Amino acid sequence: MALLEIENLRVIYPNGTEAIKSITLNAEAGEIVAIIGRSGAGKSTLLRCINGLQPTSAGRIVLNGSEINALSESERIQLRRKIGFIWQEYNLIDRLPAITNVLTGRLGYNNSWQSALGIFNTTHRRIALHNLERVNLLHRARHRADKLSGGEKQRVAIARAMSQQPTVVLADEPVASLDPELATQVMSVLARVAREDGVLTLINIHQVELAKAFADRLIGIANGTVVFDGKPNELTP
Ligand code: ADP
Repeated sequence: MALLEIENLRVIYPNGTEAIKSITLNAEAGEIVAIIGRSGAGKSTLLRCINGLQPTSAGRIVLNGSEINALSESERIQLRRKIGFIWQEYNLIDRLPAITNVLTGRLGYNNSWQSALGIFNTTHRRIALHNLERVNLLHRARHRADKLSGGEKQRVAIARAMSQQPTVVLADEPVASLDPELATQVMSVLARVAREDGVLTLINIHQVELAKAFADRLIGIANGTVVFDGKPNELTP
């Protein structure tokens, strides 16, 4: 059984838009998969379904043996603890230092009173510092998130996701707000840490050249269906 199995997935929004017509795909631990396609193709909807945030209309998604739609809310929260999400606009807490933002990746592993008080034990702190170091930002650990550059913010977000010790990382247009040089740098960091940890990583990205440079596999989506699934060198114009 593959780590991620998606079978005949269909998503219709309440307004009648059929965002995903039918998607079937499998992915294995350690794969770095770029999902490419025009705006409106259904890429974000697909990631939100895997995260359990978007109700599906038909089909099934099985992650690490659990069918996402069959889970209770508490089971879904447990599963989501192991799903790292990286957003285009970073979603950091501006007034908190980089290290505290990374520590929020450990919240799912704290009990509720520890989380409420913002208490993180030495193990959590060690994991968070280690991940900041891996994204080359240890020297910024105590800087407030809103004082960091865009590229640094996204590297903090990567460190936060990796601190979850995730089964899968989902990144939705992670470099769309960055200039080309920083976009390359951030993609390189994301691909490196994901490879080092053997984490399945799905990246929605519209820059095809970056997708080809850093992913093992490309999935092309158009009008809510898979129109290409192969290695970067198999993609034709
Ligand atoms: P992509 O990420 O590839 O740009 P999306 O998954 O965001 O594509 O959107 C797929 C389709 O679903 C588009 O036609 C979009 O307008 C529509 N859509 C996205 N979100 C919603 C929503 N909340 N309600 C209704 N339609 C939506």
